[in-house]
Amino acid sequence: MVISGPSGAGKTSICQALLRDLPQTVWSVSVTTRSPRLGERDGESYSFVSADEFRRRERAGDFLESAEYVGHRYGTPREPVETALAGGKNVVMEIDVQGGMQVAQRMPESVRIFVLPPDMQSLRARLEGRRTEQEEQMRRRIAQADGEIAVARDSGCYQYFVVNDVLENTIEEVKNIIEQERNKR
Ligand code: 5GP
Repeated sequence: MVISGPSGAGKTSICQALLRDLPQTVWSVSVTTRSPRLGERDGESYSFVSADEFRRRERAGDFLESAEYVGHRYGTPREPVETALAGGKNVVMEIDVQGGMQVAQRMPESVRIFVLPPDMQSLRARLEGRRTEQEEQMRRRIAQADGEIAVARDSGCYQYFVVNDVLENTIEEVKNIIEQERNKR
């Protein structure tokens, strides 16, 4: 399962609910060159690495997909995803649109969902409420959001777009999508 959407759209809360509620479902721990936010522990939400280490792993072919997002690199380690899938587990990847397009190509059987904010004001309010980003970073993330939504729509790689207005409803909607997709297979 690929969950994408602009920063502040609520992807992380949705992913946490999927991990809590769906059986046999694991989180793909991405590698990133950005610094940990307050409360983020290495190896949980992300593995935090230097730019050199990221490049080394990229050259070694360790990543299923990778991208640059507002000045930092992000990548999904291939091996844990393949091992989990081979063991019959579902894997949740919270990745950006560039990554979503790569996964769509490499794993066409994936379910790809794009989470939209109800409107740009609420996106801004959520990012401001988070208070984890510096002003400049926040500005760049908001600027990125518009373009990201357009690219997601044009890419044709997302089978579903969900508007995250009331979180609990969105979680139900996403769970229903996954259930439907499971039944189809
Ligand atoms: P953040 O810095 O807010 O945690 O993440 C910034 C963006 O990078 C978000 O859109 C997030 O989904 C995306 N992202 C996180 N991990 C990965 C990854 O492994 N690959 C890609 N392509 N994007 C990622």
